Amino acid sequence: MSGERVGKAAHRAVRRARLAGKVSPGSTCEVCGCSVQAALYRRKGRILCYEHLAKEEGRAITEMDHLYTEDLDPDAVVETPGNMHREIEELRYDWPEVVRTRAADDPLLRALAVALSEYDRARVVVRYRRAEIDFLFRLYTVLVAQYGQRWWEALSVGPFWPKAEP
Ligand SMILES: [Zn+2]
Repeated sequence: MSGERVGKAAHRAVRRARLAGKVSPGSTCEVCGCSVQAALYRRKGRILCYEHLAKEEGRAITEMDHLYTEDLDPDAVVETPGNMHREIEELRYDWPEVVRTRAADDPLLRALAVALSEYDRARVVVRYRRAEIDFLFRLYTVLVAQYGQRWWEALSVGPFWPKAEP
């Protein structure tokens, strides 16, 4: 296990260096401000997130994420925002080498790969949910400051509640 930990630490250092080569730490997408380093790319002196780079290149901003890696289940895919997918894919480099290379051949390693896949996806989704919560609260604060506590009436947005079913 300690050998695996050393391998993981060494791999993480290589990965950090690779990511730092793409863009410097603290960089953000010049279009949307995305700061997820795994999703940032340098193109012709500009820094763009995966989604805005894809948009400029005429590609979809979403990708099909293989929930349990393509090797284990090529059909289990879910359409995922590109930046989030870059982050999920990056976390797979943290998996023990033996899981990344032999999961298709060993039932225990397969179970580990499935558990790691779900764990990684869940923690990325939770980080995005937290960002959404923080963003919505900042937006609420700005709306109240500019339009008062009944901001939705001042802006004629209408109520939130769903209409009664017919
Ligand atoms: Zn962007």
